[in-house]
Amino acid sequence: MNAKNYAKIKKIKEKLVAKKKSIISQLQKFAKKNKNIKDDYRTEFQKIGDHQDENADEVADYASKLSIEHDLEEELQNIEGALKKTSENTYGICSICGEKINPKRLEAMPEATLCVKCSERKK
Ligand SMILES: [Zn+2]
Repeated sequence: MNAKNYAKIKKIKEKLVAKKKSIISQLQKFAKKNKNIKDDYRTEFQKIGDHQDENADEVADYASKLSIEHDLEEELQNIEGALKKTSENTYGICSICGEKINPKRLEAMPEATLCVKCSERKK
């Protein structure tokens, strides 16, 4: 790897690590880390009160947190995957088809480990 590439990867790594930290701090606001599974968080059910409307609020609140938790965890996993790729020297290469990932995509989403085609197909 030449010096230019090395500097580029270093920058990407920094970006990924910063993103990872911010996601973890977002998760920790409402979820507890699962000690048994790496990078898994559990949303806490918060009791607001015992009235019927309060119960409904609790459930709605819990449901929305669960969905945020899911999205954040998925992003966290992507970031871990991308970080792994930077150390394996395969960063920017699609995990499925092995094609180069569009640099513009990587700029907008440094954690991308799949090319556009493969990520569309995965959905
Ligand atoms: Zn692909």
